Amino acid sequence: MKAEKSIKKYDYDVAVLGAGPAGIMAAGKAARFGASVVLIEKNFTLAKKLLLTGNGRCNFTNAEFNLSELVKNYNNGKFLFHIFSVFGPKETIKFFEELGVKTKIEKNKRVFPASDSAQEVLEALEKYLAENKVNIIFNSEVINVDHSGKKINKLILKDFSTGLGNGREITAKKYILCTGGKSYPLTGSDGFGYKLAKKLGHTIVKPLPALSSIRIKEKWVKNLQGISLKGVKITVFQKGKKRFQEEGSILFTHFGVSGPAVLNISANVGDLLENGLSVGQAGEAKICFDLAPLLNQGEFGEKINEILKKYPKKKFKNILSDFAPEKLAEILLDIAGVDKNKMAGNVSKIERGMTAKIFKNFEVTAESIFGFNEAKTTRGGISLAEIDGKTMRSKIIDNLFFAGEVIDVDGKTGGFNLQMCWSTGCVAGESCGQESMICVT
Ligand SMILES: Cc1cc2nc3c(=O)[nH]c(=O)nc-3n(C[C@H](O)[C@H](O)[C@H](O)COP(=O)(O)OP(=O)(O)OC[C@H]3O[C@@H](n4cnc5c(N)ncnc54)[C@H](O)[C@@H]3O)c2cc1C
Repeated sequence: MKAEKSIKKYDYDVAVLGAGPAGIMAAGKAARFGASVVLIEKNFTLAKKLLLTGNGRCNFTNAEFNLSELVKNYNNGKFLFHIFSVFGPKETIKFFEELGVKTKIEKNKRVFPASDSAQEVLEALEKYLAENKVNIIFNSEVINVDHSGKKINKLILKDFSTGLGNGREITAKKYILCTGGKSYPLTGSDGFGYKLAKKLGHTIVKPLPALSSIRIKEKWVKNLQGISLKGVKITVFQKGKKRFQEEGSILFTHFGVSGPAVLNISANVGDLLENGLSVGQAGEAKICFDLAPLLNQGEFGEKINEILKKYPKKKFKNILSDFAPEKLAEILLDIAGVDKNKMAGNVSKIERGMTAKIFKNFEVTAESIFGFNEAKTTRGGISLAEIDGKTMRSKIIDNLFFAGEVIDVDGKTGGFNLQMCWSTGCVAGESCGQESMICVT
């Protein structure tokens, strides 16, 4: 037995599948250990999706440095605790600053490049790959793997970069699967990673669109198109049972609702619509909005009373702008059965109470959530029970590691998803780069 440093038996020490944020980070980190690394990407360019992030501004992390708080922003966040302790938001900001990207922190701790340019982030990553001598093969799709027992032997590619076409083979000591989830498939992430992992014996938690807008059944919602509201509390019910809560900004659209708070609950709503609380309950989810979450109904009624007294000669619908835009106020008054054209001075105590009630709790019915073409990330993926949370290694295939959206973790809006990609990419890359250099054959 001898330690192997050359690549005689293998084409590379490490092969990384997919050049999104997770794959780029994994490839660079592995190469820093001196491993020869190949990064295989089916597109002509790196990280197509990264350029779309944050509306082209790239909200690349969140400055939540308390890891116990940080993990609360994820579905299955506990799995990430150790990974974040190795490479969390602080390390990520330092990483990009060292690559020359000046950063800034905006509202809700969202971190962006100071230039507001995702392109700058991408160029920094290109520089990182070049500095660490990562070999990149573009326009080359992994279509299969050859494996025996607990080991991958080689990758089989559909490779248009070399003219070798179908069947080009690549061997490596270690493989890192970073092919993304199913969201925005036009950027390259079409769920291939799930098929591959399944073939290798992994369990796939059913992928669902996450961070997606919600279609609403009530037709009147269309009339509110373009209205956005801040600080709204959203509660989701199924069969009268409270299921989820979220607070933040919402946006009415021509089909329903969107905005950060809505995106954050969308996967949960999708799950309720598809699976329900129990058999027979699928297909129903009520979404309740509270426009004044800081006040209880009585206090809110008092606020309304103050305004009624201030403007007794104005129409009721015209004096509620402190709480909702006029269009929304009119609709809510109609739903509550209160005459919106009544003079404020004539509004009764009962009508005031009904108004407070509807503003604190108006309900719409979720019809469906937008699919993978619009979803910003994927819920579900490779089961975490089969991944070692210290190294990102598969517990089924010894020389396979995972990073990024392909695993069963998803985050809220605010830079959390990219942070998960940098962190899992770093840990997978370091574990596998380190091991491949001391690997005994
Ligand atoms: C519009 C939009 C905006 C977003 N904004 C933000 C944001 O501001 N902040 C944030 O934190 N997150 C954001 N996200 C989420 C974030 O972009 C993803 O979490 C992240 O890109 C996932 O990275 P990944 O490397 O796991 O996968 P991907 O970025 O999907 O990359 C996977 C790569 O693998 C390649 N690939 C797939 N299959 C194969 C194959 N068989 N062979 C070779 N290559 C293959 C693909 O072409 C792709 O390049 C946004 C997402 C979208 C869609």
